Amino acid sequence: MAASLRLRGAASGLRYWSRRLQPPAASLAAVCSRSMASKTPVGFIGLGNMGNPMAKNLMKHGYPLIVYDVFPDACKEFQDAGEQVVSSPADVAEKADRIITMLPTSINAIEVYSGASGILKKVKKGSLLIDSSTIDPAVAKELAKEVEKMGAVFMDAPVSGGVGAARSGNLTFMVGGVEDEFAAAQELLGCMGSSVVYCGAVGTGQAAKICNNMLLAISMIGTAETMNLGIRLGLDPKLLAKILNMSSGRCWSSDTYNPVPGVMEGVPSANNYQGGFGTTLMAKDLGLAQDSATSTKSPILLGSLAHQIYRIMCAKGYSKKDFSSVFQFLREEETF
Ligand code: NAD
Repeated sequence: MAASLRLRGAASGLRYWSRRLQPPAASLAAVCSRSMASKTPVGFIGLGNMGNPMAKNLMKHGYPLIVYDVFPDACKEFQDAGEQVVSSPADVAEKADRIITMLPTSINAIEVYSGASGILKKVKKGSLLIDSSTIDPAVAKELAKEVEKMGAVFMDAPVSGGVGAARSGNLTFMVGGVEDEFAAAQELLGCMGSSVVYCGAVGTGQAAKICNNMLLAISMIGTAETMNLGIRLGLDPKLLAKILNMSSGRCWSSDTYNPVPGVMEGVPSANNYQGGFGTTLMAKDLGLAQDSATSTKSPILLGSLAHQIYRIMCAKGYSKKDFSSVFQFLREEETF
């Protein structure tokens, strides 16, 4: 299996560069035109808020795509761009020996890998299957075992960075799996992210991601509460954000993804909380953190509270809005 995997890597003919280590423009152009000619198709399953821009970045790097999404409209843009659209994950596996999946939940990932027309039905020996969805680390380990039985390789590579970073190719990938396969994964992930970090055995990418998102949820709620309090104390929200961002309260939720409409442009709060990272998905990730905390007997007091807040938001009609809509939720909860 190792030999066929090495062949697969060589077939693509492209060496991975970190964006921080770009070669001079002239030599990059020379290498790109050489490698473009030998790039084999990459499968991509799940073309939603994140998968769509990620797949487009693979296209920009010259990779032909074989795509599938259970929601046919999600494939239309790719079909119009001349990429191949197929009708099941199994069909993707039949045509591509490197596949990336970007799905909402563990259940969707199980369906796409092990379902009746899942990847495993037609996966080729030596294929590299990279799951970038955020799912339960235990499910990632189970999928890896099933994939291994078929003579292929599974790596978990969830992402951090949101839709903006997915568009600009600046995601952070947290990768778990066999270390020998990391370079092959890096070749593709480096087209979609500026940081590709090896975390350890399969499942450790998911563990890192769950920890990050628990902290993100807590800091987003904290930012929303702080901004709401400041506004009610008579402060101008833009001025308050500016002060926080030059002070010790600064965080990603305050300086890059501020939840208050009118403070920043190009973020979901500037667009009625459309797009971005759905409240349902954040509630899902906090549920994964809760399960992991229970199994490892770890106290996560604020993480558990954040989980309950996002669950209540889902029940109160915020499920399809971006998770920064916790600010709007707090504004509407006058009785808090
Ligand atoms: P999304 O709901 O926008 O997209 C998921 C896509 O998967 C949809 O197009 C859906 O039709 C498709 N899908 C669902 N089940 C399928 C199946 N059985 N077969 C084929 N396609 C199927 O979700 P998203 O925001 O793109 O998030 C994807 C993953 O990335 C999630 O696990 C999420 O937690 C994680 N994530 C999201 C963000 C973000 O900012 N949106 C950031 C980091 C990580």
